[in-house]
Amino acid sequence: MAKALCERNNSKRMSYIDWDEYFMAIAFLSAKRSKDPCTQVGACIVNNDKRIVGIGYNGMPMGCSDDEFPWNKGSCTSLDAKYLYVCHAEVNAVLNKNSSDVKDCTIYVALFPCNECAKVIIQSGIKTVIYMSDKHSHKVVTIASKRMFDAAGVTYRQYIPKNQKIEIDFSDINWNEMSQLPQTPTKPED
Ligand SMILES: [Zn+2]
Repeated sequence: MAKALCERNNSKRMSYIDWDEYFMAIAFLSAKRSKDPCTQVGACIVNNDKRIVGIGYNGMPMGCSDDEFPWNKGSCTSLDAKYLYVCHAEVNAVLNKNSSDVKDCTIYVALFPCNECAKVIIQSGIKTVIYMSDKHSHKVVTIASKRMFDAAGVTYRQYIPKNQKIEIDFSDINWNEMSQLPQTPTKPED
């Protein structure tokens, strides 16, 4: 039935997700890789051609075992709390870039960047921040971020989702139909 409808209908599908939804959803999907039991944050950097050039999530630096370093909250200066060790999503996204630089790019991030990430965002040349939540707006780290962004000409805006949920269902693909596709003939061994 669905296939017959697809064949008859010559106009494009209208329920596709828009660019902002797509990139914010990728930031949220990346956050699911985080081992932090309390706060999972993802970030996605996009250039002016709408190409993704960096993705990151909050995690321990390379070589610093997820199982050995602390994940608990506590004093920001405590050696037994996570704060001194964890790399934030924004920093990881900049460092993971697959282009020569991220100048004039946009970063999508779930939480408004802290002051340390704001410095990295500014210094890397990113020009726009699109965030989902500003729940720490009263904290000095966020106030300092905004002060730096304003001075450096980095614009920021909150993303208001059109849909509360975007579901990914691996069964959307009809595997049975795919398995009936003709097999590519294998080359005889040389
Ligand atoms: Zn940060």
